Amino acid sequence: MLAAPSREQALAKTAFALIGDWSIAPTPENYELFYVYASGTNVTLTKIIDGMIRDKAPLTVPVLQSLCAQFLSRERTARTMEDVGSGISGMLDAVLTKLDRAGKDAGEYGRTLSAASGELGGAQSPAVVAKMVERIVGATQAMEVRTRALEGELQRSSEQVSELKTQLDTVRKESRLDPLTALANRKAFDQELTSAITDARQDGTSVALMMCDIDHFKRFNDTWGHQTGDQVLRLVANCLSENVKGRDTAARYGGEEFVVILRQTTLDGAAKLADQIRANVENKKLVKKSTGDILGCITISIGVAQLRDTDSAELLVQRADRALYRAKNTGRNRIAIESELVPAAASHAA
Ligand code: GH3
Ligand code: MG
Ligand code: MG
Repeated sequence: MLAAPSREQALAKTAFALIGDWSIAPTPENYELFYVYASGTNVTLTKIIDGMIRDKAPLTVPVLQSLCAQFLSRERTARTMEDVGSGISGMLDAVLTKLDRAGKDAGEYGRTLSAASGELGGAQSPAVVAKMVERIVGATQAMEVRTRALEGELQRSSEQVSELKTQLDTVRKESRLDPLTALANRKAFDQELTSAITDARQDGTSVALMMCDIDHFKRFNDTWGHQTGDQVLRLVANCLSENVKGRDTAARYGGEEFVVILRQTTLDGAAKLADQIRANVENKKLVKKSTGDILGCITISIGVAQLRDTDSAELLVQRADRALYRAKNTGRNRIAIESELVPAAASHAA
């Protein structure tokens, strides 16, 4: 019987076959994507691709790019985590072996000393005593050598630990960032909003939230392509980062929607900043990198809400979202604050 191919070989073959069957460009990223799909380790990715195959949805270049951006960085993060984890466990095993060995050496040394002290108890001739002293000196020297070696090993292990700690910190930071825009991602936003609300309640301060959405972005994507669309997302993200400092957090909420948490800020203050950001985006010139063409203006609409005593994070997001839709319905390229919402509309949408 032939030896069974390794799991990696089988996965590689399947990934290649899928790329061939569906006439997908054999780029390293696409190959990696289908390798992960073939492995079935990422349930969400498997569901999405299976759904697309079932619905006969075309796996176009933008779709593949978006899947790569969404899943591969997480896959890599998970792999780095695994590497860091097995690095730590391998290193701890090595240290434990060394310590065990050191314990045995020390025990042996102790036994040599107590045997010598026992022998010294009786009346001994100077020659016997001299021999015993020689044995003790020898054992002590050997112990010194082993102790020094152990010190060296422990020093190296502690260097490895700090290296692993640095790697782990990088991975942790990456897992909180959106890969396309380098803003905080949705997970980091959810955590930060909960903590901002807790702090505000403790300090008796206010928290404001901005929900921003790019105007007619679909039209822009359809005209200029997804890659230029991604460039726009980065441009808007940069505008937010430039205007949001220190204790505030700008995040990509999803697709072409962004959120900003403003600690210790009232509705009025947030509205002023929102309008400043809106104007900043409007005034940026967008140039197509590959051709140098000027692509016209990008505008955004923003909804602003402020935390209430009875609020949850969800309710606050909901009101900012409703204000955003008011900004859209009243002309776009503008901001709307929650106090503009008519109560009937607010309760209808609740
Ligand atoms: P509105 O002014 O009402 O917001 O119109 P819109 O076209 O911006 O809104 P719609 O929700 O109809 O379309 C959003 C589009 O955003 C759809 C999709 O093409 C695009 N989009 C979402 N995520 C991404 C992404 O990660 N990259 C790119 N390039 N486009 C994206
Ligand atoms: Mg939208
Ligand atoms: Mg939009």
